[in-house]
Amino acid sequence: MLPPIEKFDSSIGVRIYRMPVLAFPTLLAYTYLLVGACTPTLVDCGSGYGDSNDHLIAALKAVQSDFGEKLELQDIQRIFITHGHIDHHGGLSFIRQKLHGAKVGIHPLDRRILVAYEERVVVSTKNLRVYLQRAGVSEKRVQDLLNMYGFAKRLITSEKVDFLLEEGTEIDGMTFIHAPGHCSGQVCIRIGDVLLTADHILSRITPHQAPESITHYTGLGHYLDSLEKVKRLDGVRLGLGGHEEPITDIYARIEGIKEDHHRKLERILDIIRGAENPVTISDVSKAMYSEVHGYQVLLALEEIGAHIEYLYEHGELAVCNLDEIEQSDNPVLLYRTS
Ligand SMILES: [Zn+2]
Ligand SMILES: [Zn+2]
Repeated sequence: MLPPIEKFDSSIGVRIYRMPVLAFPTLLAYTYLLVGACTPTLVDCGSGYGDSNDHLIAALKAVQSDFGEKLELQDIQRIFITHGHIDHHGGLSFIRQKLHGAKVGIHPLDRRILVAYEERVVVSTKNLRVYLQRAGVSEKRVQDLLNMYGFAKRLITSEKVDFLLEEGTEIDGMTFIHAPGHCSGQVCIRIGDVLLTADHILSRITPHQAPESITHYTGLGHYLDSLEKVKRLDGVRLGLGGHEEPITDIYARIEGIKEDHHRKLERILDIIRGAENPVTISDVSKAMYSEVHGYQVLLALEEIGAHIEYLYEHGELAVCNLDEIEQSDNPVLLYRTS
């Protein structure tokens, strides 16, 4: 059962409808419809996988029938994509056809994910392979993880981008805050006193982080800076994320997420300090997340990698197998505290 569609009002007269879709069997995502004091706009469009497209169409129709919005599908002329993750843009080609060619906007740093999707998959898969090898993951496991990573990505094709959601852009009174970290081109959308936080800030889970060595402009350092940036926005009454429940105190939630990362950094340092020998990212990941399976293993390796890179960049860790690094093409990196 999907949660109900919910309506939120903003201080600038834009009405916000939160529309649930099941992006993947265990991942509920929220898309949004903006109407009222703006050109009707869809924010994100689900994964395109399974029932996601059907859920989106049903929700758009329900906004008309259940909430009395006088709006036909083809009145929606604009789509904002909050960031280049598949659960947010995978349904784009489907919905664009249904909306008769609505114009699509995304942040410049995620533009290539939409316009050159096939290139993106090849390049990011290669970067991920190198990362996993350097993280000390066995070759067999690397192959399994890459197969999982490629799943669902093959279903998507490239899409045209019509405009850019750059920092400082204003559209119908709405502004865009570039918040890199969880994704390079992550934007939050300010609609008066409401902030669509996408996956930058979620109400319950600390948003997933991946190492910058896989994708530039991600990484924990960028992410923490982006939290500070959102914290400096005055007068946000309500945060609405790409998943999970509304955030009634976004400033307190930011503090909670920061604390979670700092605890994780401390714990990783403790593990590395307490180890008899220098350790790999894979060793730390196993120590921290011993219970995970399947795709969760990949997420854990990325999350730990983002933290270890952060500690290394900040001088807390050293890489200690320099001879091996000098002599081999793609060596496993062994860390110790510095
Ligand atoms: Zn995301
Ligand atoms: Zn997401």
